Amino acid sequence: MIRQITLTETMRAALRKGVEDHKFSHGHALVLAGGPGRGGAARLAARAALRAGAGLVTLACPQVSLAENAAHLTAVMLTALPDAYTLRGMFADTRLNALCLGPGLGAPRALEMVPGALWGRRATVLDADALTAFEHDPGPLFNALHDKVVLTPHPGEFRHLFPDLARAWEAGEMSKIEATSRAAVRAGCTVLLKGHETVIASAAEEIAVHSATGEMAAPWLATAGSGDVLAGLIVGLMARGHSPFEAACSGTWLHAAAARQFGPGLIAEDLPDALPALFRDIG
Ligand code: AMP
Ligand code: MG
Repeated sequence: MIRQITLTETMRAALRKGVEDHKFSHGHALVLAGGPGRGGAARLAARAALRAGAGLVTLACPQVSLAENAAHLTAVMLTALPDAYTLRGMFADTRLNALCLGPGLGAPRALEMVPGALWGRRATVLDADALTAFEHDPGPLFNALHDKVVLTPHPGEFRHLFPDLARAWEAGEMSKIEATSRAAVRAGCTVLLKGHETVIASAAEEIAVHSATGEMAAPWLATAGSGDVLAGLIVGLMARGHSPFEAACSGTWLHAAAARQFGPGLIAEDLPDALPALFRDIG
């Protein structure tokens, strides 16, 4: 069954926090992101994760970017990007329950880090450079995927991941829904294929669609950094305990609803900061 993503009572309830909650009840998200000249992507994802309600967020970025990030982020903890060995060690902390890998990382570093990030079998968003990395070493990387992963490609990144499905979709031989659904079953995880119509499919063949058309249109979301915010929202929601598929659906809804508070001229950093008012309004 194909579900249209709308705000449901279940989603509303899941987004609330309880009066007796504390920061450790809402998980710890680790964002592995950023590289020379791409620190903004990392900060957008980390800030969005915190605004989505993760109890704690740590941004792991290249050593050279630590000071720059510290100047822009206050509530986010910072650490240097770990090597594969150190990253495995970080999984000893069982409170670290969600990861986002990729925004602004650069493909060579992402290629190195994907296996280590997947090793911990945490809820994980792979976005941006973590997706293009699959083109270089698809066999081992696909084998390492697991059912707590969400892949968040735009159509170009989808082409790197699933060239045959992208070709069939682009040739009109297969719908976007069918291409996404087959991709999710093949990868054994959740796949979120972006665009003005976003399709989300899980390996268990759940399918949801969000159409930003008609009164839901928000074409100003097609702006630099917008996808980094979406990746951050999804990892923040997974840190809070949402399942990968539900986090992908709720994150997509929140991203679009935040964008509708604005209009042309929206820039990506407007989105995370629109969330508190949005959460208050949807109560
Ligand atoms: P990215 O390309 O990774 O920066 O992601 C872009 C984000 O903007 C995704 O969440 C897309 O679904 C969204 N987006 C792109 N184009 C449109 C559009 N025309 N209308 C609404 N959302 C869009
Ligand atoms: Mg992107």
